[in-house]
Amino acid sequence: MEVSHLSVIYRGPLSSCNYACPYCPFAKHTETAAEHAADAAALERFVSWAEAQPFDLSVLFTPWGEALVRPRYQAALTRLSHAPHIRQLAIQTNLSGSLAWLSHAERSKIGLWATYHPNEVKRERFLAKCAELDTLGVHYSVGVVGKKSHFSEIETLRATLPPEIYLWVNAFKVGEGYYSPTDLARLSAADPLFEVNTRRYRTRGHACGAGESVISVDGDGTARRCHFIERPLGNIYAQDVRELLRPRLCSRSSCECHIGYVHLPELGAADIYGEGLLARIPDSGVWAESGRLEAYLARAQQLHASTAGR
Ligand code: SF4
Ligand code: SF4
Repeated sequence: MEVSHLSVIYRGPLSSCNYACPYCPFAKHTETAAEHAADAAALERFVSWAEAQPFDLSVLFTPWGEALVRPRYQAALTRLSHAPHIRQLAIQTNLSGSLAWLSHAERSKIGLWATYHPNEVKRERFLAKCAELDTLGVHYSVGVVGKKSHFSEIETLRATLPPEIYLWVNAFKVGEGYYSPTDLARLSAADPLFEVNTRRYRTRGHACGAGESVISVDGDGTARRCHFIERPLGNIYAQDVRELLRPRLCSRSSCECHIGYVHLPELGAADIYGEGLLARIPDSGVWAESGRLEAYLARAQQLHASTAGR
């Protein structure tokens, strides 16, 4: 397929974290030296592959744990940021690591998807890291898991962060009825896009850019449409990635994660996020221009309503 730009969501073998959030399904592992070496080799191979592609690329790193405390990931982002055909680089991080590496990177291309974990770090410390990013001129979004025990921290964080920094809340998906209408209103006041994340979209049979404009790649180069569909498309090290891309319908019963559903054309998430899609940073005009936010919420509601009960 002709490709002018591809987004790649990379997840290597790394599976460790310096935090121990009780709601985290992964990162409860301590790596051996050999496992670290394997992760470093996979990362080096991926970075070299990305540098060699003849079309524009954007990359989101979604590690099974915290990668940005590791100098190899800081170096990988720095290196990729200087490649002319790399448009955007994003990484999910708890923001606990040093940010000094950013002074050497092409910062205009980097977006940090930063998550605040109230039980693991003091708010003041997390906010100090955000202030460092502001000083460095690095784009970022900040988010929190919307557990009931986090509500007051979410509100305080929203009130303390600069107003132009987007704060997202990930719905704590433990089944229907967790949130009361009052809870939903409270969290929507902190994150105007919250309700989009509360739903499980019944996506089977709907067109999705996953497998066409975005793919997920693991440490050995296996490419999948997204993190949620196991069946591989192929391997980026064994074939030209462009051979793997084509328009496709979703084959999964539902999609409820931001990194997945934003690729549904029906949702039109690109109109909200623009260049910040991978780092979950809405376009600044969304808040000022009348109707854009409302139209997005209406499209999400419509998608959910049209597929509910399937
Ligand atoms: S910081 Fe993220 S990866 Fe680490 S334990 Fe918490 S949720 Fe898991
Ligand atoms: S809708 Fe979600 S699960 Fe389906 S292909 Fe797209 S990203 Fe994957």
